[in-house]
Amino acid sequence: MTRTDQPTATSTGTRTGPRREVLISGASIAGPALAFWLTRYGYAVTVVEKAGAPRGGGYPIDVRGTALDVLERMGVLPQLRDAHIDLRRLTFRDGDGTEVASLHPHAVTGGVAGRDLEVRRGDLTDALHTAVRDDVEFLFNDSIDTLDQTVHGVDVTFHGGGSRTFDMVVGADGTHSRTREMLFGPEERFHRYLGYCFAVFTMRNTFGLSHETVVWNTPGRAAALYAVGEDDRVHAFLNFAQPEPPMDAFRDPEAQRDLVARVFADAGWEVPGMLAALRDADDLFFDGVSQIRMPRWSRGRVALVGDAAYAPSFLTGQGTSLALVGAYMLAGCLADRDHIAGFAAYERDTREFVRVNQELVGQGGATLFPTTARDLERRDDRLRGLSAIPVPEERPAHSALALPTFTPRT
Ligand SMILES: Cc1cc2nc3c(=O)[nH]c(=O)nc-3n(C[C@H](O)[C@H](O)[C@H](O)COP(=O)(O)OP(=O)(O)OC[C@H]3O[C@@H](n4cnc5c(N)ncnc54)[C@H](O)[C@@H]3O)c2cc1C
Repeated sequence: MTRTDQPTATSTGTRTGPRREVLISGASIAGPALAFWLTRYGYAVTVVEKAGAPRGGGYPIDVRGTALDVLERMGVLPQLRDAHIDLRRLTFRDGDGTEVASLHPHAVTGGVAGRDLEVRRGDLTDALHTAVRDDVEFLFNDSIDTLDQTVHGVDVTFHGGGSRTFDMVVGADGTHSRTREMLFGPEERFHRYLGYCFAVFTMRNTFGLSHETVVWNTPGRAAALYAVGEDDRVHAFLNFAQPEPPMDAFRDPEAQRDLVARVFADAGWEVPGMLAALRDADDLFFDGVSQIRMPRWSRGRVALVGDAAYAPSFLTGQGTSLALVGAYMLAGCLADRDHIAGFAAYERDTREFVRVNQELVGQGGATLFPTTARDLERRDDRLRGLSAIPVPEERPAHSALALPTFTPRT
């Protein structure tokens, strides 16, 4: 745990009165990005994270459009450019492993060569944590037990014991946010399930793959192997149609493994080896493909940011970008305002960006995972056509917000 009670250089001399204290729940992407900007605006920030350290792992993530400007303003873009994954080829195979199409990845993702960033998730969480750890108090292995709002602040009790009062609390604790549940009620009210589940984990690269992704499909099922570089590990990805969300499996990794093994039991290509690796994987990330859509992102002195408020689903590829932009906007809106005016400005100025990016779900990834043989055939025809056309321009939604410059209150 580190704590610095002195304002940072950029905020020194601009503040009068005591520093306002903010508690953030979640130290992944949105949490540290929000902490970074709030400290610059003179806030004293504490981040509580239930894991023992920032969690790496997961599939590589994309950062595009406006979110790149956030990373640039944070000063972490150059090091992340160095960590960029240069994915060169995306190959689709049918049920018996025959090649359908082989294209440049941007033809499918709408990414822009030379501008968009794709990095290992852990490289981004490391960069964000490193950028804030000297200015922010981190409480790892802990979480919020109760929140009680008064006119003066938010009284918080921690699972690990102890209680404190903060001026504001922000939930950056992901799609299954407990902060959201405490504030607004059960996830089901805001969860828009998109009909798929997925599992990602790493396994040995016995396939000779390098800088490429290979995707295998049958109706309602997809398996992919993603070789980031020359590594001896590949990211394995298993996605399948599942009409109802398997609520029981979400909190039980063994149930997740059983479910995936059942769904892919008769699959060909490299899937049997992937299922064997899944059994022993210690970095499994399993979830439903879903969005979070909320009519409001705050109540009183508590607000939500990132996936907790507006997860767009991996089908849009925009979860990390929304988390970064949302964190920048929330902190900026609080730079010279109290929580009432600040939270209102955050919603007013960020909601349209979130909306257009959540809408991408109809255009991109969902069409990559057809559930009927007929739709799969059509998809394959489209993919064969794509290999003949040039790489498209950036999707307007990715840059649909011009970042304002915020000034701390004096
Ligand atoms: C380990 C991991 C692997 C991931 N892998 C993928 C992937 O392969 N594909 C994909 O599409 N998305 C993945 N994601 C989600 C992706 O990171 C987010 O969609 C996106 O980056 C938005 O980030 P976020 O900070 O809003 O939420 P998240 O990245 O989900 O982070 C939420 C953070 O809050 C913490 N947390 C949760 N509950 C509590 C609590 N009660 N108290 C304190 N802390 C809490 C979590 O441990 C996590 O660190 C993964 C997330 C994690 C944590």
